[in-house]
Amino acid sequence: MKGKNLVILIVLAIVLVGLAVHTSRKAGSTTPDVVGKKLLPDLPVNEIEKIVTKTGQSTVELARAESGWTLPSRYGYSADFTKLRGALLKLADLKIGQVLRVTEAQRRDLRMVPPGGTNAAGTVVDLLGAGGKSIASLLIGAEHSRKAPEGMGYGGYPDGQYVSIDGGKSVYLVAQPLEEFAVAAREWMDPEFVNVPAMDIETIEIGGAGRPELKLSRKADGSGFAMDGLKATEELDAAKVSSSESALSYLRPDDVADPVLTEAQLDTPMDFDSVKAAGSMLGTAAVTVFTEGTCPVAVLARMAQFYAHESCGQCTPCRDGTGWLERIVESIEHGTGRAGDCDLLLNAAQQIMGNTICALGDAAAMPVISFVKTYRADFERHIALGRCPYE
Ligand code: SF4
Repeated sequence: MKGKNLVILIVLAIVLVGLAVHTSRKAGSTTPDVVGKKLLPDLPVNEIEKIVTKTGQSTVELARAESGWTLPSRYGYSADFTKLRGALLKLADLKIGQVLRVTEAQRRDLRMVPPGGTNAAGTVVDLLGAGGKSIASLLIGAEHSRKAPEGMGYGGYPDGQYVSIDGGKSVYLVAQPLEEFAVAAREWMDPEFVNVPAMDIETIEIGGAGRPELKLSRKADGSGFAMDGLKATEELDAAKVSSSESALSYLRPDDVADPVLTEAQLDTPMDFDSVKAAGSMLGTAAVTVFTEGTCPVAVLARMAQFYAHESCGQCTPCRDGTGWLERIVESIEHGTGRAGDCDLLLNAAQQIMGNTICALGDAAAMPVISFVKTYRADFERHIALGRCPYE
């Protein structure tokens, strides 16, 4: 009997060892199975209707509209399609370079944590189809850098990114940095705001309130411009003509700002003095016109969100104040505003004005003061109804 038991035990041990070897081989074999394969196989790029990028501090939304891709947070301004297309094709082509087994501490170090609870969070990119249906969701973590060869005199360069498609549980390294998804909404704006090629210009008329009008016309042989009414003793300044020619060749919008003007002021001449006299500023000369039915509180909420995000935090009135403005305006827009919030907004904005190191503080406060003064009735209606009356 003892011998028989021994044989049974030996057989059992052999079976268990065999099972263990088989199991361990199976676990180890997952790496070669996925390495080299696409992270988002068969990504239906053409079915993507919306891209939402979320970090701990901000959300950037890109949406497909009839006119093309737009930025809803920039009042439907056109998105940079070349950049967007490149980013989507990059995602469609991403291949897994390495599978990492990480500890919780390493997961945080690699920012493989969705935004929401920690400063060490990554960026979530949600790709949505028709009706908001999720097509894919990608968590982008830390960049992977390669050390520069010795003696090259610089530290290194990014050559990959840690990513996850299941919220950080499985961590992969891909061989392309995904830096384009880590930018603010303004970075997605179509840089070609106005493009009038110099060679297409036949006449240039320059004028303005209280200034004499100048008219330059292209010479018949195309060799430059002549000015109407130029005296025989006068000469055209070639440098000035050239800068006038190219003035509209490449205007790049910077962002939105400045006190709002009303419908009644639509005919204000587009020059610095006239716009200033009307109570606003021309800034970079980019103008946004809102259609009837646009909620001014929602517009201001987006502006306040932008400035709160852009504050570098160096000075307290801007760091704390922009956050306060954002929260109060958003609560009014979302129906949880309280009586007295309009005065609170004006007061908070006045505390920021003139009390910050750079002009961002003033730029954040000015639209708040202007919107509350111009559209106070709209703000009060939101508070009284407990909802946005424009929705
Ligand atoms: S005002 Fe300028 S320097 Fe001060 S926190 Fe704001 S952005 Fe930074």
